[in-house]
Amino acid sequence: MSSETEPTQPAPEADQATTSDLPPAEPPPIIEPDPEEDPTPPPPPKEPGELNVQVEPATWYEVTSACATSTCVNLNTTTTEPMVYSNAGALRLVCGPCGKDRPILDYTKLDPQPEMT
Ligand SMILES: [Zn+2]
Repeated sequence: MSSETEPTQPAPEADQATTSDLPPAEPPPIIEPDPEEDPTPPPPPKEPGELNVQVEPATWYEVTSACATSTCVNLNTTTTEPMVYSNAGALRLVCGPCGKDRPILDYTKLDPQPEMT
């Protein structure tokens, strides 16, 4: 009986095999774009520094304005007039010292409207 008993060779270690602990390839995480870029930003409700603001006619408003005349003593001085009448529908303030229109920074409709007798 010929027994071809081959010498027991140690099984070659699977050095070539990629025994990596890394998980299988996964798709990259989905990065959602930042919602910062708004193609159509809403315009501000009130444009600051308007000389002539269109509002409801025959209505009283509280108006904040500041003179923009460089030579005026009231330059950049913000003043709030508690009662400004809109007349035909426009708010317009004239600076006393320089006699020029004061850009209107803000205005608020009086509520309730003052009763004028
Ligand atoms: Zn002025």
